Amino acid sequence: MSGRTFIQNPGPTNIPERILRAMARPAVDFGTEDFGLLLGSSLKTLNQYMANSGPLIGYTSTGHGAWEATVTNMFDVGASVLLCDSGHFSHRWGEMCEAHGLDVQWFETSWQRGVDPDALRDALSAESGAKIQGVLVAHTETSTGVTSDLAAIRDVLDDLDHSALLVVDSIASFGCAPLDVDELGVDACLAVSQKGLMMPVGLAFSGISERAVEAAYANPRRRFYWDWRRRLEVEGYRTFCGTPPIHHIFGLNEALSMFEEEGGIHAVTNRHRRLATAVRVAVQAWSSAGAIEFNAVNEHERSDSVTCVRVGPEYDADQVIEVARDKYNLTMGKGIGPLAGSAFRIGHLGDLNVPMILGALGAIETSLRTCRIPIGGGGLEAAAEELSDVSS
Ligand SMILES: *Cc1c(COP(=O)(O)O)cnc(C)c1O
Repeated sequence: MSGRTFIQNPGPTNIPERILRAMARPAVDFGTEDFGLLLGSSLKTLNQYMANSGPLIGYTSTGHGAWEATVTNMFDVGASVLLCDSGHFSHRWGEMCEAHGLDVQWFETSWQRGVDPDALRDALSAESGAKIQGVLVAHTETSTGVTSDLAAIRDVLDDLDHSALLVVDSIASFGCAPLDVDELGVDACLAVSQKGLMMPVGLAFSGISERAVEAAYANPRRRFYWDWRRRLEVEGYRTFCGTPPIHHIFGLNEALSMFEEEGGIHAVTNRHRRLATAVRVAVQAWSSAGAIEFNAVNEHERSDSVTCVRVGPEYDADQVIEVARDKYNLTMGKGIGPLAGSAFRIGHLGDLNVPMILGALGAIETSLRTCRIPIGGGGLEAAAEELSDVSS
């Protein structure tokens, strides 16, 4: 097909040419001072973007690796954790916790809403709530397009004077939505390379608090590869428990330079907010014909990274995805779990600008029309209007 393919998946996301070029180079000796400085400064800058004053641990892995490292360092076998089960990814994380012998208290939140602070308060103040050592939550649940209010969750813990560690999967939100680790009292904040950081898959991170470090040192659980102590204690080779992912570090350094040039992390998250709003006004207009709707029922919980659109039972969401991909060169995420076949997910995170978002919305509208799904008019117009409203 002629022209570019639009990757509107909620990960992996577009990789800018600059990052590809920064990675296209011969191997270097990772023992040199130059590489050591580059590695150190990249991790430090990333940690600053998380607004974390504690250590940042890096892994050559997927997000699943960061999940596993974080729970096995912070919690011993038998520890009780409250898992906010808000969608496919958080559910998977809970299953992983169970596989590692944690006593998981499943805190169900509907797949259409974020974590309800009042229900959380009830769960934590119940008898079983007192022994909970960790609250695990996905900031943005990629399968549902819902972002939970972390400040509200922090407030509940503070109000109850509850000592549970707060562990946040920000894999889909880092670099896309504001998240200040220190201010929110987050004890572990998880991120990966292939979403907001615009890189290939293969790097993952946990920005952790001093309390999390203490928990790891006090934790007798056996571990080796993921052991934070091993990674914290010695520089160089051990930081990644093996050869550092040299080329990914070149890519990371370039990604962080791009953030810097844009004006820092707030400029980056503001751009995400603007582009996401344009997607939402288009979906809103389309939905007026009654055939499609937002999965996230509460407007303020609609994610700035991904929009999950439900399609009425008489229509086939997978067909929309196939048509978009095969006819119009645009890829999207499928509905997952209970949403399989009945939703499509528009990723709007990473390296995107106004024409890319308007192009994507145009192709999605064309796909909906091709599938004869009734949509309200004016979606693209509303998006253009929304984007023209901003001064920058
Ligand atoms: C993508 C994603 C994951 C999984 O990351 P992998 O790198 O595929 O292991 C976990 N949580 C959330 C919220 C995600 O969006």
